[in-house]
Amino acid sequence: MEPTATSSPEAAATQAAAQAPESFEVRRPTDGSVIRSVPVDGPAEVRATVERVRAAQKEWERIGVRGRTQWLHRWRDWLLDHREEIADVVQEETGKVRGDAMLESIYLEVAINYWTKEGPRFIADEHPKPTLLIGRAKRLRVRYRPYPVVGIISPWNFPLILSAGDAIPALTAGAAVVIKPSEYTPLELMEVVRGWREIGAPDVLAVVNGMAETGGALVDEVDYLCFTGSDRTGRAVMKRAADTLTPVSLELGGKDPAVVLRDADLDRAANAVAFGGFINTGQVCMSIERVYVEEPVYEEFLGKLTAKVRGLKQGQDGRGYGCDLGAITSPEQIEIIERHVEDARAKGARILTGGRRGEGPGDWYEPTVIADADHSMQVMVDETFGPVVGVMKVADEEEAVRMANDTRYGLSASVFASPERAERVAERLEAGAVNVNDALINYFFLEVPMGGWKDSGIGWRHGATGIRKFCRTESIVTPRFRTTKDEPLWYPYTARRRRLLGRIYRAVNARGLRNRLGI
Ligand code: NAD
Repeated sequence: MEPTATSSPEAAATQAAAQAPESFEVRRPTDGSVIRSVPVDGPAEVRATVERVRAAQKEWERIGVRGRTQWLHRWRDWLLDHREEIADVVQEETGKVRGDAMLESIYLEVAINYWTKEGPRFIADEHPKPTLLIGRAKRLRVRYRPYPVVGIISPWNFPLILSAGDAIPALTAGAAVVIKPSEYTPLELMEVVRGWREIGAPDVLAVVNGMAETGGALVDEVDYLCFTGSDRTGRAVMKRAADTLTPVSLELGGKDPAVVLRDADLDRAANAVAFGGFINTGQVCMSIERVYVEEPVYEEFLGKLTAKVRGLKQGQDGRGYGCDLGAITSPEQIEIIERHVEDARAKGARILTGGRRGEGPGDWYEPTVIADADHSMQVMVDETFGPVVGVMKVADEEEAVRMANDTRYGLSASVFASPERAERVAERLEAGAVNVNDALINYFFLEVPMGGWKDSGIGWRHGATGIRKFCRTESIVTPRFRTTKDEPLWYPYTARRRRLLGRIYRAVNARGLRNRLGI
């Protein structure tokens, strides 16, 4: 019998559940072979996991930040002891080179130290002073209390930094955390969460695995959702969160520019763009994807950048640190990369180096520099998320700033020029973070907020906001002196009392003696 268009939502849900896969395969991007199969957690498993950690969260909050710090420090020590093994898993499922893989657990170690040191200050009670004189009879207190369960949905490019990395401030704040990693790269997160259990820490950190259905179920169950991924999925997550009025933070995509002006140190600019464009094989939300170079230094900069990029070594280096670039982690991403390069080629851009898939099995794309690019080309407007940098010639600083800001994204940016000029240009760029005569470095300073403008996101990680976002504020207003049976503001509303109150407020709010007295 043909299915009818009017089947009930329950029937549709049952049918979807019946069709949902029970497991998915995690592959090595370097050759496409299967590492292992991972069971999918359906909505029922997600609910059970959230309820389990929710039950343990009360005690986690109760032990206070000092108690939580002790567990986080033990976890840091476990991470330090298992650095090499973790990096092995990272490399296997992402295709990263060793230098990029090691960044993952190093970031977690740094983050644990940062949040356990600074976090308590950021979420300590605040005691604002009442502005009004008559308010001085009250004591004001603001408390930061954690959302009981925080959900984290993460992408495949930095599977630990963007999952456990966000869990650390949430745990420090006293929340329990459930993470859904990308279906391409769940194994390293599963490994570090195994470490959490191995040290005997409370049951407040868990992983659920799967694809969109699992992610959606997590949105339904948690009290706060921290998402990192594409802006397309970010919109879907925010829509779903609207059903339960669950607050979200969204760390989304980018198309980050670099501006290179005529008074820049061109060697430094070329080296920085090579690093910022190709680190992690270009699979970084904040990687430099487009460069605007002032006309007098355009060819010279291109020569230096191309020479640097031609010297980069791509391959698998195991524990050896012998390569600069690895494979492309997601097989879907390599299609996008190829499309952008071919579009630029067809529209007349010059491919100075790279421009092809790598040979052999697995997903490889050569580090690619594209000259004479412009905004009619996808490579200058849409997120490529691969080892490709487009370079465009601009007449002057004005055009450079205009083109850099001509984007729907606004994650980060770089500017290369003399120090004063670079600082001035930085202030005009529309992005959540700007690196002056540097690339990507802002991410390593946990003291400053990191987040996107425009379609690059909502909310910030790092800095005070990076932990406060996992908390609800509770304001407590308490009498400072012995209380009376009544207050002037309370009932009844007699004319005499209201007139008296009116005079008091006039005297407080007005400026100038005559105004204060109402004469
Ligand atoms: P993605 O949006 O495809 O997936 C991200 C996560 O969302 C995955 O875990 C996925 O399984 C899950 N998901 C997919 N559909 C869902 C749904 N309907 N409901 C709930 N969850 C769902 O992103 P990706 O391809 O894994 O990662 C690449 C993207 O992430 C790029 O756009 C990149 O710029 C962005 N990114 C942003 C930052 C940042 O901090 N701003 C950092 C890294 C990556």
